[in-house]
Amino acid sequence: MNEIFDLIVLGAGSGGIATARRAASYGARVAIIESGRLGGTCVNVGCVPKKVMWNAASLAHGLEMAGDYGFKLSRHGFDWPVMKKKRDDYIVRLNEIYQRNLDLDEIKMFQGHGRLVDTHTIEVVDPHNQASEKLAIEGRHVLIATGGRPSVPDIPGAEYGITSDGFFELEELPERVVVVGAGYIAVELAGVLNQLGSEVTMILRNESFLRTFDASLRETLMEEMMNAGVNILSCTHMNRIEKQENGNLHIVSSHSEDIRDIDCLIWAIGRSSNTDDIGLDKIGIETTSAGFIETDDQQNTAVDGVYAVGDITGRAALTPVAIAAGRRLADRLFNHQTDAKLDYDNIPSVVFSHPPIGTVGMAEDEARERYGQVKIYQSRFTNMINALSEQKPKSLIKMITAGAKEKVVGIHVIGEGADEIVQGFAVAIRMGAHKTDLDNTVAIHPTASEELVLLS
Ligand SMILES: Cc1cc2nc3c(=O)[nH]c(=O)nc-3n(C[C@H](O)[C@H](O)[C@H](O)COP(=O)(O)OP(=O)(O)OC[C@H]3O[C@@H](n4cnc5c(N)ncnc54)[C@H](O)[C@@H]3O)c2cc1C
Repeated sequence: MNEIFDLIVLGAGSGGIATARRAASYGARVAIIESGRLGGTCVNVGCVPKKVMWNAASLAHGLEMAGDYGFKLSRHGFDWPVMKKKRDDYIVRLNEIYQRNLDLDEIKMFQGHGRLVDTHTIEVVDPHNQASEKLAIEGRHVLIATGGRPSVPDIPGAEYGITSDGFFELEELPERVVVVGAGYIAVELAGVLNQLGSEVTMILRNESFLRTFDASLRETLMEEMMNAGVNILSCTHMNRIEKQENGNLHIVSSHSEDIRDIDCLIWAIGRSSNTDDIGLDKIGIETTSAGFIETDDQQNTAVDGVYAVGDITGRAALTPVAIAAGRRLADRLFNHQTDAKLDYDNIPSVVFSHPPIGTVGMAEDEARERYGQVKIYQSRFTNMINALSEQKPKSLIKMITAGAKEKVVGIHVIGEGADEIVQGFAVAIRMGAHKTDLDNTVAIHPTASEELVLLS
């Protein structure tokens, strides 16, 4: 045994780092173990590089529109390797900032694969020489925040495809891409590549994508993506992938369309939890059938002194959720805030699609099921940015209210600016806003967000 800690955190991603730093701020002796790069999925292969790519794609779209405003510009000349290098450098800077913050907070970082030996001990294995050292845990606080990794299907030729991790390693813009999957990551990657000039086909197992989102959002996005040139094949079963003689891929599916000459296949079919080989069996924690670690509403697992936050818990797999849950856990363990816990209701989120989606609260079908009678307010309009363009993509704003007093229980926006609109309205929903509160708010003109206070 080398050192004694009050809290040992397995995984230095969004949830692990947030918990470690909050605990250290209360004077706890904290160790954090990471097998990969500091910052986890979000910083290295998730939100951050994804948003950079979305920004690049939005700029490409802006350049296309600039002609409508009289600019004589061309979008030719996009240099993917330059953009990638700058994006990668940016992430390295973030990794360094994370390391500096851990040092400043006097959190001890261990690089290697962490594995529970018992509830008092974690073994850290050096990936290079397989040497291991054991950390003792005083106070028996262990946090599991090991997140997840992209899944790949078990079909012949699946290995010819890449995942979202591989997307961030692409050295060139692919010409002909197939994205398989129906979640927000599939939609985002397809949108980015399409805007940047790839020919994109999306393959969906069911009728539509984003199945947990409000139907109006997914219908509008489906329409806009198809208008923008994305080929969407619904209700399609993937059979196998074959490598052609020229090195490109032939996708064999249940769809009648013959999909050949694909130079990039992206699997975006979901994520698997990093629970294997972390010693859960040694301490008696079982995972759910979907592979998650179950916790109560204060992030306690079935084993006393062992907690879990973030994607590993299978609840709202988003960075701010992992951070918020982790901070509240540290508040409870090290600052006597015995009731601290994250409220998982009304979590706002954005899909960085083209156009983007912002959403908070219940989808219409969910609200109908919960409240029976609901009122729907909806506005479909063309954003003024398209006033001078021939292309008129549709924006949509939808509000759902429940009860005689019309409590706002859901707000859903798709269109230019949706990504920045919803955060403020999420505060209003949290505070229990009613439709009259929005009616009584003076509009900001001319904006897309004013539609939300002008709905009738
Ligand atoms: C392409 C993509 C885009 C995304 N975009 C967004 C977005 O726009 N907004 C948003 O809110 N969320 C987004 N997410 C989700 C977000 O990244 C995750 O919800 C978040 O990172 C979860 O944090 P976490 O702490 O649970 O796990 P992670 O961030 O995944 O961190 C887990 C860490 O644990 C480490 N680890 C695993 N096992 C071990 C072990 N045995 N020993 C040591 N270390 C270990 C891993 O290397 C990793 O660094 C995106 C995800 C992806 C894949």
